[in-house]
Amino acid sequence: MENAALELLRTTFGHPGFRGEQAEIVACVAGGNDALVLMPTGGGKSLCYQLPALLRDGCGIVVSPLIALMQDQVEALRQLGVRAACLNSSLDAGAAAEVERDLLAGDLDLLYVAPERLLTGRFLHLLERAHASHGIALFAIDEAHCVSHWGHDFRPEYRQLTILHERWPDVPRIALTATADAPTRREIAERLALEDARRFVSSFDRPNIRYRVVQKDGKGSRALLDFIAGHKGESGIVYAFSRKRVEKVAEQLQLAGIDALPYHAGMPNEQRAANQRRFLQADGVVMVATIAFGMGIDKPDVRFVAHVDLPKSIEGYYQETGRAGRDGEPAEAWLSYGLGDVVNLRQLINQGEAGEERKQLEVRKLDALLGYCESTDCRRQALLGWFGEAHEGHCGNCDNCIDPPESWDGTEAARKALSCVYRSGQRFGAGHLIDILRGVATDKVQRFGHGQLSTWGIGADLDVRQWSGVFRQLVAAGLLEADVDRHNALRLTALATPVLRGERTLRFRKDAPRSTRRRERAGAAPMIELAPEAALRFDALREWRATTAREQNVPAYVIFHDATLRAIAAADPGDLDDLAGIAGIGGTKLERYGEAVLQQLFDVA
Ligand code: ADP
Ligand code: ZN
Repeated sequence: MENAALELLRTTFGHPGFRGEQAEIVACVAGGNDALVLMPTGGGKSLCYQLPALLRDGCGIVVSPLIALMQDQVEALRQLGVRAACLNSSLDAGAAAEVERDLLAGDLDLLYVAPERLLTGRFLHLLERAHASHGIALFAIDEAHCVSHWGHDFRPEYRQLTILHERWPDVPRIALTATADAPTRREIAERLALEDARRFVSSFDRPNIRYRVVQKDGKGSRALLDFIAGHKGESGIVYAFSRKRVEKVAEQLQLAGIDALPYHAGMPNEQRAANQRRFLQADGVVMVATIAFGMGIDKPDVRFVAHVDLPKSIEGYYQETGRAGRDGEPAEAWLSYGLGDVVNLRQLINQGEAGEERKQLEVRKLDALLGYCESTDCRRQALLGWFGEAHEGHCGNCDNCIDPPESWDGTEAARKALSCVYRSGQRFGAGHLIDILRGVATDKVQRFGHGQLSTWGIGADLDVRQWSGVFRQLVAAGLLEADVDRHNALRLTALATPVLRGERTLRFRKDAPRSTRRRERAGAAPMIELAPEAALRFDALREWRATTAREQNVPAYVIFHDATLRAIAAADPGDLDDLAGIAGIGGTKLERYGEAVLQQLFDVA
């Protein structure tokens, strides 16, 4: 069995070997056993059910919540010569009937289906007949965290998927997800009746992603533009908080000459679909989006994910950043945030409809994310720690490891800030408080007589930026909270008392001045450098790929990944045999594109 799996991996998928635990997972499911697979985005989950489906008799049924993703996966599989299809609401009746006929005739290896479709009487009946005639190879439940209430993508239909196990207990099931903290994990096993399934928990580390967090400096999109300038011509995603922000940021990028498109739920469907298609198919498009975008975006060569507003939780952040660098090549995750973000999110939680328990959970999640942002230690260690995974830190590929930030004893400054909040009546925002501390006699200061306060001018030793950092970190640490109903006036919480009494000391992160940020950017991990002639070959291949993709109306990466093209360009194979030896080229692709690729190389030479 193992040899058969490896053989298929090489001939059909063109990969030289298994990654991580793929071999064990494939063997487990192909052998008829259930499996629960936790693997980070880009880890290679698809193969874990695709291979066993090919190895076993009958068709593999894949439950996936994402129609866009299905289409892409099916397309990619067909390119490999695998008989794949999907059934979802985007298909007309004729096309759906054809898929059903193929299934019953035993002409399908893999069938992707949305959960609500799967649960219909009609489809269950179809499965009954398929099972009786050619067998069902397996049930794969993708994005399995959708079954969990605590997760962030709850789908009620997922809870009914236990019906598969009840009706067809002899068919192995494999549930897969990339998001799973301990409670979500437990809930998946319980809700899908997979307590006895073998568990495969991979490391969630994504070593090729470089993490970086910067503080907003009030200069609008400047920092973002600087960051994107380091990724010229590359695909990326910029996440923003609201529809309005998305539109604004997209426009700013476009004005700066960047090929950027907006994406949010408020746009007309057609426009949204067109933008998504362009992002997937063209090289180097930057998508500016709300988090409505991305689940199921399987583009492997996304080189950066930027958050211009604070995400809601570490899980969300990790999943969103995980969309960068699925192909394993260097990629960057960049987050900028400021006091305003903290205030906004806290406000959103407070005003939400959710019950008290849920709100508290959300507050805890936000606090954990803020802790991550303000941390002076290895980011990777903090992220993995949140998923219960130990990492000794000093990863060498996050901002804090590359350029260790300084911290300073902020106890004195914190006491000044906190007492200024108290003495001015807990009715003012950070801007005004900073004016008082620094002794700036604005109209507002005069009007309220704040020049008479004992805290007037006691903070002239720090500049505005430094004081903003102090207030941001005090809010982040929960010593101050913003009052939504009073123009975000800051007030003390119980946590402030020990500091005011001199019973607790505080250390703050020293925010990096702008010049260091530039240096960091210049140090972004480079791609494997190609020699000049190889670079020419690479460009020619990319151009050929773009044309071919357009002709077939499929995303470029479905034809070949960048990494494969780069490997071809570097190796410069002279014939089909040499070409076949390159990773990423399976039998069907060799047959389909081999000659054309050799022709490109010949033309450039
Ligand atoms: P996930 O669903 O876990 O996010 P995918 O199944 O989409 O990940 O795989 C991510 C990328 O890794 C894909 O581009 C895939 O072709 C590649 N990949 C998966 N397994 C292997 C392997 N054994 N060798 C080389 N590349 C692989
Ligand atoms: Zn690190």
